[in-house]
Parts: sequence; structure tokens; C-alpha cells
Amino acid sequence: MKTYQIPVGKGVEIPVTENFFDIVNPSNHEVVSRIPKMTAADVDGAVVAASAALDKTDWACNGVFRAKVMLQWADRLEANIEPIARQLTLENGKLIGEASYEVTSQVGVIRYNAGLARTVSGRAHSLGSNSFGVVAREPMGVVAVISPWNWPVTLMIRDMAPALAAGNAMLIKPASQTAGVSLDVLRLLIEETDLPPGIVNAIAGSGSDAGQAIVVHPGIDMIAFTGDGSTGRNIMRDASQTLKKLSLELGGKSPMVVCDDADLDKAIPTLVSAIFTTTSGQICTAPSRLLVEQGIEAELVERLKKAVSGIRIGDGLDRNSQMGPMTTRDQYEKVLSFIEMGRREGRLVAGGEPLQADHLAKGNFVSPAIFTDVPDDSALNRDEIFGPVLVIKTFEGDEEAIALANDTEFGLASAVFTENVHRSWCIARGIKAGTVWVNTYNRFYPEVEVGGYKQSGIGRMAGIDGLMEFTQTKFINFDSIPQQG
Ligand code: NAP
Repeated sequence: MKTYQIPVGKGVEIPVTENFFDIVNPSNHEVVSRIPKMTAADVDGAVVAASAALDKTDWACNGVFRAKVMLQWADRLEANIEPIARQLTLENGKLIGEASYEVTSQVGVIRYNAGLARTVSGRAHSLGSNSFGVVAREPMGVVAVISPWNWPVTLMIRDMAPALAAGNAMLIKPASQTAGVSLDVLRLLIEETDLPPGIVNAIAGSGSDAGQAIVVHPGIDMIAFTGDGSTGRNIMRDASQTLKKLSLELGGKSPMVVCDDADLDKAIPTLVSAIFTTTSGQICTAPSRLLVEQGIEAELVERLKKAVSGIRIGDGLDRNSQMGPMTTRDQYEKVLSFIEMGRREGRLVAGGEPLQADHLAKGNFVSPAIFTDVPDDSALNRDEIFGPVLVIKTFEGDEEAIALANDTEFGLASAVFTENVHRSWCIARGIKAGTVWVNTYNRFYPEVEVGGYKQSGIGRMAGIDGLMEFTQTKFINFDSIPQQG
């Protein structure tokens, strides 16, 4: 068991607390981390530190220095991939291979954004014989990141890296379930680089206490939140008191459309990975609705059943495991209750069992569940389950495929599998989602913007637009060009 301290920069006092909370390993329920529990008063202190750091340093206007610090952070993270990935698996339960990929990929994200730190620039305008204007890009000020537990390193850095590149000071509140690994990553930045003290402040504590204090704090200019839609709605309501800028990355109920000419040798393993084995289906983009063209349904269902029956479920640290546990007990129970509902309202064609074998009995393990014949208005079809539960429905022709794909309040991600370029284009253009993958799934790149249509979110992550989210423009208008001498 690892006991944590809150990382702080040189000369800053470590917040003292008598209160700690524990994180348990979802594979066996043993305590793996003990985390200081911070409160609203600590949030207040962190906001003061962040504002003072912006006032006292040239962080906000020195892109060369920001790039240097971010590259130091990337180097420290790269040198620590193994221990950080291990801690990620211990707290989240995900496979160690996925955890290593998660940490490694974020080294690249930090480096990409470090490059952007030197390109935050505005425009100049000649506005008439006596008027000249500059539209300057400035940082938002103090930005808070509130992140979830499913991809905790990725989702924290996805917001942090552009926000730092843009010159903001920050408060970071990671999810309690994965606070230890998040503090490990933050410590490398706060204690092992030239980052000025106070520019980044870690906040460990519950959403209802420390998180809520961030949302209502008048000294915070922007919140970048990733998490559940209901939490996003609460944050939007409470942040309205101080009219903060918000970026919201929320849930999904993503469709994968498989046409009758699709390469099933590619579509099936891609689907199995995206809805079952990657983070045990606990990923916002998971394709939880499979829309399959009528003529190939029987073959696809049979091949899918065979593919999932061979999945080895177990502890994420065991390299033989192909799928891990649900990260929290609440999530495990939520998934089982949806499966129960599915048994009543639809037809379970595979899996859907809590796993009780000796080596699994103490963990939150569930076998992948596949349903057909689920009524359109069933919550199984409508709600984000956030687990290894797939609902299959058939369609005939592109028009119906698009209509079914769009029959949801969400619009985060989607995919179409077909060998016909014209069909892929028509369906991709018709789907209302922030991402459409063609013959692939879950590919992300630091240079490419992603985000939600409809109730899946507000704002865009990554790429140039992702950087701009963390800036605001200032128009400076000169009445006339000053005379020399
Ligand atoms: P969550 O319950 O909304 O929690 C997310 C974060 O918000 C946690 O740090 C949580 O703190 C904090 N929080 C909770 N209540 C709060 C409040 N009233 N004020 C401020 N902060 C508060 O979400 P989750 O269960 O961790 O994550 C799963 C959800 O995230 C799913 O809906 C998934 O689709 C979504 N997600 C979306 C994306 C995307 O890119 N669109 C990516 C990944 C996940 P504590 O947990 O410490 O209490």
C-alpha cells in the first residue's frame, strides 16, 4: 500500500491533513493507495497560489519557457512509464498493456502541445488610415481540470497539456478512484521540472466537496470537465453563478454500423476490443450499439459469440488476461442491473454473468454480454451503461442505418464498416457524432480535434482548436499610429 502526499513546488507548504481516503484494487479489493483528502479550504489556498504565480512570473507570456518545462515533464514521464502503468492497473484494474499504452501515448501528447506553446499567436489589422488593431490570444487565467477514472492519465493530460501550452495556471482534481496514479504523474511535473511553484496545483478529494468548491469558486476562470452527463449538468448549473467558461466531455451510446459487404475478419476483432476488452467496456466511445445489415446478422452473431467465449478475464497485472474487472463496485452493480433488465426485456445471446471462480471471486468481474431483440425504448438501448454490454439491431439500407445511428441523445463517436467508399462517405456524413471511424475504431491523435455532438459535450479536445479552447482574445485598438520624435 502506498501513502501519498500532495505534490507541491519548492518553497510551498504541503497541505496538512489528518484525513485520508483509501483506493482498493478492483481485482481483489485490497487497499493499494492512501490519499490525503483535501477540502474546500485547500481549494481556496490553491486558487490563491495559482493567481499569485501568474502575477509573479512570466509563465503566461513566455511560450519558450513553457515549452521547455513541458518537454522536461514528458521526459520524466517517459522515464517512469513502468511504475506509473503498474499503479494505474492497481487502481483502475485495466490490463497492464493498456496501462503502458495509456502512459506512453501521453508523452507524445505533452510533446505535441509543448510545440504549440510557441505558436499561440493572434492577428493584426489595418482598420483605416487612423486605426490599427491587434487581436491578441491570451490565456484564460486559472483553469481547473476535473477528470474521471476510466482513462485517468489520458483524460487529465488531454486537458492539461493545451491549457499549460496556452499559458494558464491550473488546479487539477482527478477522480478519487485513480487519485494515486494521477498524483504520481502530477508530481513529476510539479517537483521534477522547472515549473514555477503555484502554476499547477493538485487537489485530491471528493467531487461533492473539493470538486464542488472548484465549480463555485470565483477565482477560477474555466473548468475543463470530463465525466458523466449528470455531473456535467450539475457543474453547468452551479458554474453559472460565476459565469465560468466550460468545456464538457460527457458520455456516449455510440453506434457501429456494419454493412453487408464489410470485412468481418476486421470488423469482429475491432468490435470485441472496443466494447469488451478495452477497459472492460468502460470507455466513453465504446460502440455499445451494433447496427448490422439484415443479411449478415446470423453469421455476425455466431462469430461474435465464438469470439467472446474465448476471452480470458482476470487481474490486469496478469499478462495472460485479456479483459479486466469493472473499476468500482458501484459500476459492477450497475452493469449487472442493466444485464438483469436485458434478460427481462430482450434476448441474451452470450455472457452476462458475474464471475465467481476462485481467482475472480474477490473482484468486480463480469463476462461480456450480448443482447438482441431489445425494444427501442428500453434503457438498455438508450442509457450509457459504461461496461461490457452490447445491443445488436438490424437495418436495411443506408437511410435506416443513419436513422438508427442518430436515434440517441448522445453524439460522441461512431463507426461504419464497409468496403464501399461511396457508402462509407454517405453514412459518415449522415451520422451526428463528433467522430466517425471508417473500418477502424478508437484511434486518437494529438493533432486531431475530438468532442461531442448533442448531449455528449461542449467544446473540442486536441489539435489547434483544443489549444484555442484554453485562450481568449483581446482586441487592442490604436486610434492612430503614434508619431515619432
Ligand atoms: P463522474 O462521476 O461524473 O466523475 C468525474 C469527475 O467529476 C470525478 O473527478 C468526480 O469526483 C468529479 N465530480 C463528481 N461530482 C462532482 C461535482 N458535483 N462537482 C465537481 N466535480 C464532481 O464520472 P466518472 O464516473 O468518473 O466517469 C465516467 C463517465 O465519464 C462516463 O459517463 C463516461 O462516458 C465519461 N467520459 C467521457 C469522456 C469523453 O471524452 N467524452 C471520456 C471518458 C469518460 P470523485 O469521483 O472523486 O467524487
